[in-house]
Amino acid sequence: MRLELSTEDRAFRQEMAEFFTTEVPASIRTAVLEGQEISPDMIRESQRALNAAGLAVPHWPTEWGGRDWTDLQRHLWHEEMVRAGVPAPLPFNTSMIGPVLAQFASQEMKERFLPATANLDIWWSQGFSEPDAGSDLAGLRTTAVRDGEDWIVNGQKTWTTLGQYGDWIFTLVRTDPDAKKQLGISMLLIDMTSPGLEVRPIELIDGGHEVNEVWFTDVRVPGENLVGEVNQGWTMAKFLLGNERVGVAPVAMVKRMLARAKALAGDQLADPLTRARIAELENELLALELTALRVVAHSAGGAPHPASSVLKLRGTELQQAVSELMVDLAGPASLVPTAAEGSDVPLWARRAAPVYLNYRKASIYGGSNEIQRQIIARTILGL
Ligand SMILES: Cc1cc2nc3c(=O)[nH]c(=O)nc-3n(C[C@H](O)[C@H](O)[C@H](O)COP(=O)(O)OP(=O)(O)OC[C@H]3O[C@@H](n4cnc5c(N)ncnc54)[C@H](O)[C@@H]3O)c2cc1C
Repeated sequence: MRLELSTEDRAFRQEMAEFFTTEVPASIRTAVLEGQEISPDMIRESQRALNAAGLAVPHWPTEWGGRDWTDLQRHLWHEEMVRAGVPAPLPFNTSMIGPVLAQFASQEMKERFLPATANLDIWWSQGFSEPDAGSDLAGLRTTAVRDGEDWIVNGQKTWTTLGQYGDWIFTLVRTDPDAKKQLGISMLLIDMTSPGLEVRPIELIDGGHEVNEVWFTDVRVPGENLVGEVNQGWTMAKFLLGNERVGVAPVAMVKRMLARAKALAGDQLADPLTRARIAELENELLALELTALRVVAHSAGGAPHPASSVLKLRGTELQQAVSELMVDLAGPASLVPTAAEGSDVPLWARRAAPVYLNYRKASIYGGSNEIQRQIIARTILGL
């Protein structure tokens, strides 16, 4: 099989590459390419540059900033963006709540939130998971009870990524405790400065602070912040989680990580075992890339193809395998703390172990890999 881009698609790829490498500040791109920590301001600056050029939300309806591109064009856009070291637009905004609002919200709500969401004037957090309601999300217990026009929310969310920067949080709440569990859930948008809402940090295995608990104590939410109809939340959650699964499949990113590992391997490339390991990872990645193209070619009407579960599963496994390769390439140097002042051990080697530890998360979030295997067994293999 020979996959070749048409002249138009090659020109499109070139146009994207040129934009990303000239219009997004080099300081941000270098930080990404060198695997440094990326600040929220860098993410904002980069997303706004993209949005000003109509490149932040190409998959949204055109009325709200979408581009009506082919799936292949979207794939090329993403690939060039990652290759250039441009931070991806904040997924909570562009891949999760944005498409849900565009599909299910009232016209007023779309006008109020969609432009600010595309431009990252609002930083969204995802308030779905709770203790005892992760894979079994429908078991969530945070309640919203009517009080006149408003809702009163009580409960706890957990694992809220980057919630410390969040302006608003989109939540699933129980609005009918007596209905069958999937049928009593609604989606509410909540201003994170509301009295009674508290964000508490969770420290991760790599020492970083990227997730939080969010507590709600009698938080008053205006009735107009309900998305769609009351008790329709499960439909929106399924729509959102399907998109999330595609969004977390890191094919382009693993490609970049692996190319970097190869470049950093230096003399170690003389070792046939290291070469074989890299070659195997490259082959696996190529196979995954073909699956990614198949998925984009067969996702209709906003609903992702079930093979997106394969992308999530294999993509995160390869991401973890490459992060492990980096630790092995760094060897004992990977144990030097990242904060070591004046160390002559290069930063990539010092970051190898924390990054390896951090990526343990990838097989859990976005629907754990065990759950993806269940989906593959049921919907693809018919077991
Ligand atoms: C770093 C990180 C960031 C996250 N960010 C967010 C966020 O921003 N917002 C948000 O709402 N959530 C977030 N999550 C939550 C994430 O979606 C859940 O952790 C995930 O859905 C798994 O749920 P759980 O942790 O409750 O595990 P559980 O559901 O308790 O699962 C525990 C183990 O049992 C396995 N298991 C469970 N059910 C089955 C089954 N039916 N068959 C086979 N195996 C099963 C799981 O695969 C897992 O290995 C994040 C999680 C992590 C780790």
